[in-house]
Amino acid sequence: MKPFTYIVPGSVQEAVAALHEYGGAARVLAGGTDLLVEWRRPGARMPAVVVDISRIESLRKVSLEGREILLGPLMTHGELLHSDVIRSGGALLASAASTIGSPQIRNRGTLGGNIMNGAPCADTVPPLIALGATVTLSSADGDRECHLSGFFNKPYATIAMGEELLTQVRFPALPPGTKTSFVKLGRRNALSIARLSVAAVVYVDGSGVITDARIVPGAAHAVWKRSMEAENLLIGRSPSHTLFAEAGKIVSDVVIKETGRRWSTEYKEPVIAALVRRTLENCFTVND
Ligand SMILES: Cc1cc2nc3c(=O)[nH]c(=O)nc-3n(C[C@H](O)[C@H](O)[C@H](O)COP(=O)(O)OP(=O)(O)OC[C@H]3O[C@@H](n4cnc5c(N)ncnc54)[C@H](O)[C@@H]3O)c2cc1C
Repeated sequence: MKPFTYIVPGSVQEAVAALHEYGGAARVLAGGTDLLVEWRRPGARMPAVVVDISRIESLRKVSLEGREILLGPLMTHGELLHSDVIRSGGALLASAASTIGSPQIRNRGTLGGNIMNGAPCADTVPPLIALGATVTLSSADGDRECHLSGFFNKPYATIAMGEELLTQVRFPALPPGTKTSFVKLGRRNALSIARLSVAAVVYVDGSGVITDARIVPGAAHAVWKRSMEAENLLIGRSPSHTLFAEAGKIVSDVVIKETGRRWSTEYKEPVIAALVRRTLENCFTVND
C-alpha cells in the first residue's frame, strides 16, 4: 500500500473543507468494508488523501420528523436492523440490512457506503428506492437533494461529484398497515451477495383492494428502477397468488427485454418471476 495523507474530521464542515481542498485526490472512508477490499487488490490505485468520516457523530443518527424518517449515512447495517423507527416506518430496509454480510460486516459497514459504492448487488438500495428515498449531498457550495431513483448512472457510478459528501438519507415513513418484504437470492444463505433481490411495498385499503404497490428488483437491471408495469397491474385488484404470479412474469419479461437474451436467461427468467411472486406473498404472510 502506498503512503497517503490521513485526515479525521470531527464535523461535516471539516470533512467538506478537506474534500474541497484536496478535490479528486481525496477519498471518503466510512466503515472501509468496500474500500479496504478494493485497496488490497494487486495494482489498486490508492488515493493521495483519505478522509475518514467515521468520527462524525452527527452522521450516525436516526430520527422521525413529522412523518419523515431521517438517517445518517454512518448508521451501520446492525443499527438499521435494530432501529425501532425503521422497523415501524420502513421495515423492508431493516430486513435488507439483516441479510448483509456477517455480524462483523453489519457492525462496520454503513448505509452511506452501501449507497455510494453503487454495486448492483447493494442490498439497501432496492428498499430505499421502494420507500421513495432522497439523499442529501453536501459540499463547499452547499447542500443538494437528489432522488435515489435517479442517483445512479451505471453500476458503481453515481451522480455525486468527487467533492460531495453524502450527509443524509430520508424517506416518508410508511403508513401503519403497509405490507413490505425484501427477499434476496444468493449462492448460499449466509455471507453472500445478492444474485437477485426484490423489495416490495404494498398497501391494501379497508375494502381489500391494493391502492399502492412498489416493486424494485435488485441486481437485475444496470441501475435500479421500480417495475411500474407490474405495479400498475396490482393497483385496484385484490391480493391473490394468481395476481402475484402475473406480476412476477411481467417483471421478468421487462428485465429480460432490457438485458437481452443471453446464456443466463434460461435461469433468470423463471427465477425473477418466482422471486417477485414470493416477495409479494411474503408481504402478506410476514407482516400479517
Ligand atoms: C465479506 C463482505 C461481505 C459483504 N456482504 C454484503 C452484502 O451481503 N450486501 C451488500 O450490500 N454489501 C455487502 N458487502 C459490501 C459492504 O459491506 C457494504 O457495501 C457496506 O455498506 C459499505 O459501507 P462502508 O461504510 O464499509 O463503505 P466504505 O468501504 O467506507 O466506502 C464505500 C464507498 O462509499 C464511499 N463513501 C462512504 N461513505 C460516504 C459518504 N458519506 N459520502 C460520500 N462517499 C462515501 C467511499 O468513498 C467508497 O467509495 C460486503 C463486504 C464484505 C467485505
